[in-house]
Amino acid sequence: MESCSKSARESSSPFDFLIFDLDDTLYSSKTGIGEALKKNIDDFLVERCGFAPEKTTTLRVELFKTYGSSLAGLRALGYDIDADDYHSVVHGRLPYHLIKPDPQLRNLLRSTTQRKIIFTNSDRTHAMKALKRLGLEDCFDQIVCFETMNPNLAESARPDEFPVVLKPSPEAMRIALRETSVDPRRTLFLDDNVLNIAAGKAVGLHTVLVGKTVKTKEADYALQTVNDLPNVVPGIWVNPIHGSAGDDQIINATRSGEIDSILTPVGA
Ligand SMILES: [Mg+2]
Repeated sequence: MESCSKSARESSSPFDFLIFDLDDTLYSSKTGIGEALKKNIDDFLVERCGFAPEKTTTLRVELFKTYGSSLAGLRALGYDIDADDYHSVVHGRLPYHLIKPDPQLRNLLRSTTQRKIIFTNSDRTHAMKALKRLGLEDCFDQIVCFETMNPNLAESARPDEFPVVLKPSPEAMRIALRETSVDPRRTLFLDDNVLNIAAGKAVGLHTVLVGKTVKTKEADYALQTVNDLPNVVPGIWVNPIHGSAGDDQIINATRSGEIDSILTPVGA
């Protein structure tokens, strides 16, 4: 009775893959990270681009609405912004200590047998730092991030030669599916952004809108927090054979009482 991982893939759960957004999906940025992020973007617009401080908030909002991020907008408008420099200011200066370990979420993730993937518009350094702060750095099989979607940016001759690719663009979804080789019909995609959820549904993913109690048209499920997952999508835990190897918190959660135990923080 040794071939556990193969058997797990053949379990009767409708999902073989779980794709998670990072920011505001695996943790809330309302603890101060979100405000710090906005300030860092405003500072970047002043320090690196020379905008007047009183103009930055309006500009940041406009760039986000029109282009999906300030970096994407600035480059589309012809500003020769280096992505690594942008991220070093916008993410590098974040107060990461505000992101607290989430042992309940760790326990939940480690109790699943599915292949787990992070799909974030953020850069890899930020993703790694945030996951480490959350205590989740070893809970995922793959990270699809800014660098995955924009491999040629540094080689561009002009800032607008390669448009910045981010969720929810169809190109971003195409890259994510290609890089992860998931079968969308067997994949659950969790994200806090309604546009990203719509983009996920458009490529055939099953979708979970995080941070909301009411579903949008393209969301199959809605969760107030990711830790509600066992209650809202118990099918993830149907007949798992084994959890990820090497964790003493593995739970064969085929009974509701065992799902309840996933909801109890480790060491609480
Ligand atoms: Mg997000």
